Amino acid sequence: TGGEDAPAQGKTSIPGVKNIIAVASGKGGVGKSTVSSNLAIALAKTGAKVGLCDCDLYGPSTAQMFGTNQQPYANERDEIIPIEAHGIKLMSMGFLLDDNSPVIVRGPLATRYTQQFLRQVEWGELDYLILDLPPGTGDIQLTIVQTVALSGAVIVTTPQEVALIDARKAVSMFAKVNVDILGVVENMSWFECEHGTKYHLFGDGGGVKEAERLKVPLLGQIPIDITTRQCADDGTPVATLSETESSVSAAFKDTAEK
Ligand code: ADP
Repeated sequence: TGGEDAPAQGKTSIPGVKNIIAVASGKGGVGKSTVSSNLAIALAKTGAKVGLCDCDLYGPSTAQMFGTNQQPYANERDEIIPIEAHGIKLMSMGFLLDDNSPVIVRGPLATRYTQQFLRQVEWGELDYLILDLPPGTGDIQLTIVQTVALSGAVIVTTPQEVALIDARKAVSMFAKVNVDILGVVENMSWFECEHGTKYHLFGDGGGVKEAERLKVPLLGQIPIDITTRQCADDGTPVATLSETESSVSAAFKDTAEK
């Protein structure tokens, strides 16, 4: 009868949210959450209203990266009110757990949680909602790409061949459900020592070639950077710094503008 409890038919948008962008990677540990959080901040710096949803039920890191341990609450209409930190509306499985409890939820429940996250959160008016997907192409990712009207997807990879192989699997998942790939962000592109020498620890130009192969823009190359790591640990993502303070913040500004 098409009531509120009717199963989702095809892909649906989220009321009030103009653009929903998935950030995905094939492999874990390539910097997907780092890119999601800094991209969210860089977009907010352009004047946009931005939300970020950490969809990684099994290893959420957003709460830590944004330096918040607030708990979200539900209002009288049973809507979950997102936390706000650094000007971003945040929702993360990490908010629902204490630091030491691993989440043990299996497939069907995991997809239900994901739906709840996205539909029950009172996001309000947003220009961008960034979805930090878990790595790979499992149940949660599939639920999202099949049921949410995504504006597009950003693929995060390191230049290393093993990361690229897995990134291609994520790309084909989006292709199957007709979601545009907005571009590739290559993370951990190089490390620059204090003398200015660049070391391509994970290989040179893998992300560049992948973007060419997919015929999509290379949205950025982010070096391995101590400040970036420290900022993440301190709960103030590097993109909160000015572009003169941090070249990585400048790189995320470019990426957001693209
Ligand atoms: P993923 O979300 O893909 O699992 P994360 O964003 O959590 O990856 O990054 C993995 C680890 O690497 C984190 O400790 C993070 O702080 C660090 N990291 C990610 N990108 C960079 C970078 N460009 N420079 C330094 N450290 C980074």
